[in-house]
Amino acid sequence: MPSSRSRWSKRSLTAQAMGHVDPITKAVVPPIHVATTYIRDEDNAYSSGFVYGRPDNATIREAEEVLAMLEEAEAGALLFSSGMAAATAVFQALDPGDHIVASKVMYWALRNWLMTEAVRWGLKVDFVETDNLDALREAVKLGQTKLVWIETPSNPLWTITDIAGAAEIAHAAGARLAVDSTTASPIHTRPLNLGADIVMHAATKVLNGHSDVVAGALAGAKADAFWARVVNIRKMQGAILGPFEAYLLMRGMRTLHVRTAAQAKSALDLAQRFAAHPKVARVLYPGLPQHPGHDIAARQMENGFGYMLSIQVSDGEAAAIRTAARVGLWKRATSLGGVESLIEHRASIEGPGTPCPPDLLRLSTGIEDVEDLYRDLDEALRSS
Ligand SMILES: *Cc1c(COP(=O)(O)O)cnc(C)c1O
Repeated sequence: MPSSRSRWSKRSLTAQAMGHVDPITKAVVPPIHVATTYIRDEDNAYSSGFVYGRPDNATIREAEEVLAMLEEAEAGALLFSSGMAAATAVFQALDPGDHIVASKVMYWALRNWLMTEAVRWGLKVDFVETDNLDALREAVKLGQTKLVWIETPSNPLWTITDIAGAAEIAHAAGARLAVDSTTASPIHTRPLNLGADIVMHAATKVLNGHSDVVAGALAGAKADAFWARVVNIRKMQGAILGPFEAYLLMRGMRTLHVRTAAQAKSALDLAQRFAAHPKVARVLYPGLPQHPGHDIAARQMENGFGYMLSIQVSDGEAAAIRTAARVGLWKRATSLGGVESLIEHRASIEGPGTPCPPDLLRLSTGIEDVEDLYRDLDEALRSS
């Protein structure tokens, strides 16, 4: 973070998107830079620092600055066209034959990509329960494991991995630690401060927060050779986010602190109330003391425990599907992190091999009135 700005808190800097003002009009909202090409100087140089639209863009840089500040990322942040584009760029920066250890419970599309595509490029992948550090320690291979990939809290059981512990194990084996921090957001967890090397976000989710942008982000602890390779992959493969999306993302991020606070408060309230509901067998939320990852979450998360929770319906899978069909205010849709609350039967989406129990409904808590959210789901559960 530039020292001139460190006088203000992250919340203040985020609300003003780092305080950028258009130098010509003095507009408090900077213009969207749409140009794909830039005038060369008379001596043929590019003194503005911009050459072409695929590698770089001023609007993208402004949004990246907000993210780098939030994650305290020394190497800075990189925006991608999706969360998957961001995540896969990290794996593509590895070499054929490199060994990866990844969380068994993780975003299903990425697990799928690792199992189908990454292996075709010669990467070797093992999935372990990374919430168990002994299992992680056993899975890494000294000198062969080059990347440990964890997701915490992880989809859709909200399993918690000890980031500092995982970093220690990864580094001792000569590997990097990357953390998919989508569901934690930089407001609840800062993985780089806990020893991670790279943090990834599906910015599609709570960072943007309005379900109208698909975007991904990486932030790096160190501008080392590996990070340079990731930067180069985005540049050459054209995986950069578009300027309009970057502008929308920046607008969304201005309210990130307010949204995540409201969402985490409602999520905890709902978790506590549904834990005592006669039609709910179990609530999975790291904010509940009975959650297996609660103690670690309490240590490595702040400002609450996030906006994601799951419930397991007492009467089983069919009742869970009926419940999702009967809600009115909750929206039956995939994705998460938006201002509108979403409900989804995950097992039917993830298909065979999923660690997701069939009676589970995933809940993404938005910013609606929490009494309305409770009443809607309570009625749907009781009538199912
Ligand atoms: C949505 C999501 C992704 C993928 O992001 P896209 O923008 O959809 O490509 C990765 N990880 C997690 C945890 C997600 O929720």
